[in-house]
Amino acid sequence: MATTRPIRSTMMPVHLSLNHLLDRAGQLFASNEIVSRLPDKSLRRHNYGAFYARTRKLGQALLDLGLQPGDRVATLCWNHHAHLECYFGIPAAGGVMHTLNLRLAPDEIAWIANDAKDRFLVVDDVLLPLLAQFQGQCGFEKIIVFPFSSAPVAAPFLNYETLLDQADGNKFAYVAHHEDDAVSMCYTSGTTGKPKGVVYSHRSTVLHTLVGCLGDCWGLRGADVVMPVTPMFHANSWGMPYGAVMTGCKLVFPGPHLHPDDLLDLMQLEPPTLSLGVPTIWMSLIQTYEASLHTQPGRWKLPAGMRSLVGGAAVPEALIRAFDKHGIWIQQGWGMTETSPLATVSYTKSEFIHADADERYRRAAMAGVPVPLVDIRMRGDDGTDAPWDGQAVGEIQVRGPFITGSYHEVPVSEDKFSADGWLRTGDVASMDAHGFVRITDRTKDLIKSGGEWISSVDLENALMGHADVAEAAVIAIPDPKWSERPLACVVAKPGKTLDFAALNAHLLANGFAKWQLPERYEGIATVPRTSTGKFYKLKLREMFPA
Ligand code: ADP
Repeated sequence: MATTRPIRSTMMPVHLSLNHLLDRAGQLFASNEIVSRLPDKSLRRHNYGAFYARTRKLGQALLDLGLQPGDRVATLCWNHHAHLECYFGIPAAGGVMHTLNLRLAPDEIAWIANDAKDRFLVVDDVLLPLLAQFQGQCGFEKIIVFPFSSAPVAAPFLNYETLLDQADGNKFAYVAHHEDDAVSMCYTSGTTGKPKGVVYSHRSTVLHTLVGCLGDCWGLRGADVVMPVTPMFHANSWGMPYGAVMTGCKLVFPGPHLHPDDLLDLMQLEPPTLSLGVPTIWMSLIQTYEASLHTQPGRWKLPAGMRSLVGGAAVPEALIRAFDKHGIWIQQGWGMTETSPLATVSYTKSEFIHADADERYRRAAMAGVPVPLVDIRMRGDDGTDAPWDGQAVGEIQVRGPFITGSYHEVPVSEDKFSADGWLRTGDVASMDAHGFVRITDRTKDLIKSGGEWISSVDLENALMGHADVAEAAVIAIPDPKWSERPLACVVAKPGKTLDFAALNAHLLANGFAKWQLPERYEGIATVPRTSTGKFYKLKLREMFPA
């Protein structure tokens, strides 16, 4: 028998690279628009042709300033065209873009910038007062100010536009790289312990972009008009900027104007076909819109047929139903900074195409099905995997080419990674036979009452399904007999008064057992938000310690 010689792939060893996406945009989509809302609420229009030329100039300008491969360039910016230029121009010059979360306390931003060893900073002029509060604690060598107005940029700050004007884009050549080289980094929120850096590569970003654009995920097409409300400093706006550049779809950036009135105004001017943001944003938007139908009829129209990608926190079924009434379908995704972030997505699997409306809503309110390239398992306390029966719960653990395998300069520890290298997410969930993940809690938010777990997410979703409730967040309070009991913090809809007995009756009617009902209710004016706009349960626990 002839000896079998190992066969080799005949494919070219071409590295995955963000530069390829940038070239595509310049070559194929030059006339497609990128619209940014400026601080004065006017709109600035660019196209991908200008984006391509300006991004290459930015790359050259950074090299002229002495950027070395692997150097971190921080951004402190809202969502707009220049931030998009940083997304591509910094890696094109061999640097690593580090998005700073402008909603954090100044000391915390400084800590994060120092931990990442950020060398340069790009900052919006409107955020200079924020920078002034922590600049002294950081060692930025160059601070580049993106000017919205024509007011001069004072030395020693550098003017972003002047740097671009002076840079020779024709001279620019992409800095050689490997596909595993870092392109960007983002810090986790640090709700438990210090924030930790997650560093993405060309390869992880390109793969995540390809998966995100699939029909059952974002379903992004070149003809889409995308409005990313998710901040570009929060998990790279869920990767949408990369998807937009890859497909050349029109982008509408809201800039610093994220109030529901402003988003609704922008939707009239530039109607999106796809938008994305955390549930709290869409909760306020739908309330504002529905109130306007009585107080200012005709002021706004919701963009007919728009799809909305919502995630970052549990999406209440009531929210999905409320938008669907107006012809807008909410698609839920689950993930975290560590997962790039898309890891599961809820969509209509073929077996549910003919399902009735209630089943479709029920599935849309789940975290959904793992996306391609992501392996998932639910690890029980006993170290075995929970069966896919829709009942048994365990900690979600994930693995894949766009899942982080460690944190920046932090030793790998067992509380974050399993012994066999899977990421421990800290989220608790079940999975059914169809592969749908249903998040019941974060490990730190679980309520253990008399030895039984109560899901705060289930209680919140049911409470937010009551006609008088605008928002509800449930936390655990200590209890001498049961060890912990649920406390429900509830915000009434405008003009409504809360009747807690009626809320209990509503929960019982929705399948909750008596022992699962909240021990106590607190009526509050608004649920505190985290820096990424989610319900801030840590704050609630401080407000209601017992
Ligand atoms: P943080 O919320 O700590 O700022 P991330 O933005 O990375 O950090 O958020 C990740 C966490 O958000 C997840 O671990 C999970 O608890 C929560 N999350 C994200 N998407 C969903 C979802 N669809 N349903 C429930 N929880 C979600």
